[in-house]
Amino acid sequence: MEQIGGISIYIPGEAEEIITTLEANGHEAYLVGGCVRDALMGRTPKDYDICTSALPQQVILLFDKTIPTGVNHGTVTVMLRNLPFEVTTFRTDADYTDHRHPDTVLFSGSLLQDLERRDFTINAMAFHPVKGIIDPFDGLDDLRKKLIRTVGEPLKRFREDALRMLRAVRFKARFGFSVHKVVLDAIKELAGTIRFVSRERILSEINGILLSPFPEEMSVIFQTGLSEYIFPACEAGIPSLYTLKLLPEKLQVRWAALLREVGITGKEVIKTFCEGMKMSNTLSKDILTLSGLLAETLPYTGYSVRKAVCEVGISLFNDALTIYETTCVSGIDFNAVRQLLDDITLRQQCIHLADLAVNGTELIGEGYLAGKELGDLLDALFICVLQKPELNRKDILMEFARQMVTKTT
Ligand code: ATP
Ligand code: MG
Repeated sequence: MEQIGGISIYIPGEAEEIITTLEANGHEAYLVGGCVRDALMGRTPKDYDICTSALPQQVILLFDKTIPTGVNHGTVTVMLRNLPFEVTTFRTDADYTDHRHPDTVLFSGSLLQDLERRDFTINAMAFHPVKGIIDPFDGLDDLRKKLIRTVGEPLKRFREDALRMLRAVRFKARFGFSVHKVVLDAIKELAGTIRFVSRERILSEINGILLSPFPEEMSVIFQTGLSEYIFPACEAGIPSLYTLKLLPEKLQVRWAALLREVGITGKEVIKTFCEGMKMSNTLSKDILTLSGLLAETLPYTGYSVRKAVCEVGISLFNDALTIYETTCVSGIDFNAVRQLLDDITLRQQCIHLADLAVNGTELIGEGYLAGKELGDLLDALFICVLQKPELNRKDILMEFARQMVTKTT
């Protein structure tokens, strides 16, 4: 197995301690996967995974504090000084018949077999504090070439697990790498098998792409045909999605812009799409609100902006404004609209009935009868204030009320 000396990466003392403890008890242990890749790229890993020849029960016995995270799959979380480390027994995945999950997971006893089952060469490297980088599939070379290549034959690897096709696109979008042509061809050939992957997993990968530094790589989903299952309502061809990158890294913003860009429009269509993708209610609701705002000319006059803010909240209106500004051609003076939004906050303008300088109880105290008329009166006063925020004063509104309604007392 190729061991590359001379290259060292920073690893936390805790990870080294776990490796040393496992080795002192006759087992092999290495850092593996994403953390090795990230460290080699000079990025701070999200977490540190360790693979070992020790079986889960042996790992549990060696450390004071462990959590049996996924013992059947060989994973035990070791807590050291309050930091979690996933320690997983070397695995090899036996046959995949459902295009997603291995039928059985075998503990293999060999690092090479464990690395062999991993998806991409850049994710299939291990690191040992003394032995250095262990890189049987030339992942380091691919890292340098900024290339995503599968470990082994791509058609075989994607037939085993169709999710890997989406992971390839996600890693491309995250790192700005290329996907090797053979890998891309395999995705095109097997795109239809993405239907074997659960909607939840698909959503999580698409969210990952949308929030990545290169979200425009979402176009690969369309180029490869993965979109036919994921975006069935889409009638556009291959959209150019370069504007996504210019938008804030917020899920609802990038989703709303994406759906608009690929022609998934109209309340019912979007609603069905979001439900089908198993999005959370909050995300679906926000996407629907934003899409609704974008479907028409964005409000830009004082009254219409305040009215819209009353309906959707300042944050979503602001999001819609950003999408509009970035992706739509229009003659709207966006700075003026931003000024209107700033005024709402800075001047604490009234945009909800509750912010009105008079309330129902006060009106009743003044002799107005409770009931529907009182509600109508409050609504009318509120509309006046939305039109002219400076009217939101108790004396002015009481006077308006007097002019609008004849009191009963
Ligand atoms: P991230 O920073 O997004 O977590 P990661 O590389 O750590 O990236 P994980 O999904 O956490 O990705 O998986 C950890 C490792 O497990 C990967 O680096 C890869 O080696 C392996 N792996 C994960 N999913 C698959 C899969 N579907 N097929 C094969 N190997 C996989
Ligand atoms: Mg990870």
